[in-house]
Amino acid sequence: MKVAIVGAGLGGLLTGASLVRDNHEVDIFERLPIYGGRFTNIDCKGFKLSTGALHMVPHGPGGPLAKLLRDVGADVEIVRCNPMAVIRVPASRKDDNYYKGYKDIPFNNFGTQFSLWNRIKLFFLLATTKRNPPTGVTFEEWINRNLNESNARKIADSFCGWALSLRSKDVPVEEAFSIVRNLYQYGGTGVPIGGCKGISDALADVIRENGGKLHLKSEVEEILVENGTATGVIVDGKEYLADLVISDIGHLQTSQLCKNSDLNEDYVKNVKDIKSSAGVKICLGANEPLIGHSGVLLTPFCRRVNGINEVTNIDPGLAPPGKHLVMAHQCVSWDRLGNLEEEINMGLKDLEELFAGKDYEVLLVQSYHNGWPVNRAASGSDPGNKTPVENLFVVGDGAKEEGGIEIEGIALGVMNTLKLLQ
Ligand SMILES: Cc1cc2nc3c(=O)[nH]c(=O)nc-3n(C[C@H](O)[C@H](O)[C@H](O)COP(=O)(O)OP(=O)(O)OC[C@H]3O[C@@H](n4cnc5c(N)ncnc54)[C@H](O)[C@@H]3O)c2cc1C
Repeated sequence: MKVAIVGAGLGGLLTGASLVRDNHEVDIFERLPIYGGRFTNIDCKGFKLSTGALHMVPHGPGGPLAKLLRDVGADVEIVRCNPMAVIRVPASRKDDNYYKGYKDIPFNNFGTQFSLWNRIKLFFLLATTKRNPPTGVTFEEWINRNLNESNARKIADSFCGWALSLRSKDVPVEEAFSIVRNLYQYGGTGVPIGGCKGISDALADVIRENGGKLHLKSEVEEILVENGTATGVIVDGKEYLADLVISDIGHLQTSQLCKNSDLNEDYVKNVKDIKSSAGVKICLGANEPLIGHSGVLLTPFCRRVNGINEVTNIDPGLAPPGKHLVMAHQCVSWDRLGNLEEEINMGLKDLEELFAGKDYEVLLVQSYHNGWPVNRAASGSDPGNKTPVENLFVVGDGAKEEGGIEIEGIALGVMNTLKLLQ
């Protein structure tokens, strides 16, 4: 089968690598001069920053992405983070591990920050929700009904902000629960050796070694549709005919490329309503460890920063010798997109306070929204991989599977698409 793929982000590369291995003829068209989309490295003073992601694989070497990479024969090592995550909470001087008013506690001990009554309630909630996961409300509403405690809201916001770049009030409770369940089921986060580029390069190698073609600086102008079936793409005015078209650019942009097709009105309306998630990443270069381990540091008591990682504790090659790469992430809520500078300044202030007296510099501040967001479809709002056009499917973070966090959701969506093709 002849396959045309629009976009060489992780979704496009994963699908391309899977299909070339099944002996299909694959052409991937990417408008940029590089492949990898929001999942590759950019060099800054010898530090390996990225076009998007924080060099983290949410479910590490045991998750769906790692499985798919193994299945297609991509040569990349993903190392498990240890610990998975810690939470920085207010502390008194007599506490162990006290530093400037705070201490770090293991992620599993989040309940210690609640009142005694809520700790007892939490014990029962953990048991009952395992059997009957809650539905029908947002994560924040569920917390308000069951715990009504500001520390619980802060920890939930920090977790959702780091993991999904959303606030707990924007995440359906079922999505939040299945994400946490998956975190434990798959054994926690990991970092790929070589960072994001380690994964993108390994996939590009599989595609090329199996006869697939990666066309860079090649923007798809139109997806050809005849009698409700996709028949190819137009790039630089030239038609490429194909039996199957896979789009890695989200449902909305995909529907806009179907220029000469009367798409189902409900579909067009639905995809227009999909909201993406926005965020800010602040990259620090440090002459000493600022965190000291490879897990995520969640920061619920900061103004804006939701969490921070120090990936050089797993792959020192992501920084010049002896230095550390530290990345802080903060969600930007939809109503604050017009005040990005203020949001960034609050994030920088958080970091100044967290790392006062430490030897580091701010390397780069990157903001992500609109056409280059954190997630093209906010978690829990993905409309699936099918489109109303026959032989046209959407992959990537605009079509993640339920409970599939970030690139794990992309991998699950690609697996689902491959199943639909059988
Ligand atoms: C700040 C930040 C931190 C993140 N951290 C993590 C993390 O640590 N772990 C994690 O799992 N996820 C993380 N993510 C999410 C992750 O980076 C994305 O979900 C993932 O990279 C998206 O891949 P994709 O293939 O869906 O889309 P993209 O990477 O956007 O790829 C789409 C590609 O299509 C191309 N394109 C668009 N239009 C056309 C056209 N008409 N013709 C040809 N090409 C076109 C684009 O140039 C792009 O290269 C993070 C994201 C951000 C922004």
